[in-house]
Amino acid sequence: RGEERFKAIGPAEFFFRNIELTGFDNYTRAIFQTVKEMLDNSLDATETHGILPRITIVIERLNEAKASKEEEEKKEIKGSKDGIYRITVDDNGIGVPQDKIPYAFGRMLYSSKYVERQTRGTYGLGVKAAVLYAQKTTGEPATVISSPIKDKMTYRFKVSTNISTNEPDVKERGSWTKSGDWHGTRVSVIIEGNWRRARSKVVEYVRRTAIVAPYADITLITPDGTLIRYPRRTKEMPKPPKEVKPHPLGIDIETMKRIAQLTTAKTLLQMLTTEFQAVGAKTAKAILSMAGLEPDLEPKKLTEEQIKALVNAMKEYGTTKRYKAPSKEALSPIGEKLIKIGLKSMLNPEFVTAVSRRPSSYSGHPFVVEVGIAYGGEIPPSDAPVLLRYANKTPLLYNERNDVSWKVVSELNWKNYEVSFPAPLVVLVHVASTKVPFKDVSKDTIADVPEIEAEIRLALQEAARRLKRFIIKKRKEEELAEKVIT
Ligand code: ADP
Ligand code: MG
Repeated sequence: RGEERFKAIGPAEFFFRNIELTGFDNYTRAIFQTVKEMLDNSLDATETHGILPRITIVIERLNEAKASKEEEEKKEIKGSKDGIYRITVDDNGIGVPQDKIPYAFGRMLYSSKYVERQTRGTYGLGVKAAVLYAQKTTGEPATVISSPIKDKMTYRFKVSTNISTNEPDVKERGSWTKSGDWHGTRVSVIIEGNWRRARSKVVEYVRRTAIVAPYADITLITPDGTLIRYPRRTKEMPKPPKEVKPHPLGIDIETMKRIAQLTTAKTLLQMLTTEFQAVGAKTAKAILSMAGLEPDLEPKKLTEEQIKALVNAMKEYGTTKRYKAPSKEALSPIGEKLIKIGLKSMLNPEFVTAVSRRPSSYSGHPFVVEVGIAYGGEIPPSDAPVLLRYANKTPLLYNERNDVSWKVVSELNWKNYEVSFPAPLVVLVHVASTKVPFKDVSKDTIADVPEIEAEIRLALQEAARRLKRFIIKKRKEEELAEKVIT
């Protein structure tokens, strides 16, 4: 008595027990989240590598399912299910190397995206959360077929996760020589869900994805037997992001420890100039003298205290002397032209404009804000602007009113821009960064970081001014036409 038993659990077990943290907390959201994570991965695997995306999403109902009374009572997943579904996403991306497939799909927190570069994935969790959820609800492993670019083979795996060890559990594997030069990945999971409730959100997610990716060809086949296709509208693509070194202002103590352990630099001075952006020999020496550290110390032998002193000095240098701004090479904005093509082709408005701001930064992380406005034409009037939010090119559909974009768009005095509601107005806001400051693990809303808020406001004002000019001009033309008639 009076004694506790202690034990540690691994990441797979943690997320298995707390699956709601990953967005898989109810049957409806589970279908949405699965499609989202797999579609995001497919876009990363194509566009980031300069490949024009061709992606097919197929959702099949394998059987109707209703939970029994007992099951309803003890279950952890909210809502009611209406069937078992196989969700398959197929892309023409770079593929996954054979030896990485089991880990990429069967080990939590395993990712190729833990680098300074703008991508859709961030946590190394996305598709694995779907695999874990499949294990929890149907017990079925994921099926992955992949053929890496330049590889002569195609590989097939059935894989799930060993919950206690976080090791991939490979159930089946096979390979065959490929004919032609196909490359890409096809992933399937079998899950319980509620398609009838999820339908509108899934369709909207794919539609909004297609708005900002007019260079992609996306097909969605639903369990209702409908096929929705967004053909490619342009062959132009955003410039892919480049991997860059971390900026000194974005560094914390843990990251610094890791860098000091992994670096090949022999001295501290060398480490600062080779492992960071914006740090030349002069800056490095200044930082070291502020930290009271000898330039020829060996990075691997730094003590906890020395690491802390170094991180503090780096921050302090930023406040007194200023670094060069974080590199924008790591960013991949959509660009004004593609935003306009996207809005025009999908909404058929009378007027469209886009503003892509110059990159800026917050706490050592580069970011860029883009705003698009579409007005009139086939857009139905509404009492407030219809807001399309994006973070690193992925649509954000949940919790709109908690988002910084909502704040800025709803605070704008639209009357000053000749817009009175109800109005046929759609506003698109895109925040791209190597680190989008999400408010939550499920990545639904962006926090109101002052630098980002200010950029959104400037971009929105500029776009709204252009809209105002259009509205005034149109009104004048109409008045003139009336005069001519009467
Ligand atoms: P994240 O996307 O955050 O890295 P995921 O669990 O979604 O985490 O994916 C893990 C890794 O698997 C990715 O980093 C990527 O390298 C690889 N991957 C997943 N899906 C694909 C795909 N369709 N094509 C190529 N690689 C993929
Ligand atoms: Mg992902």
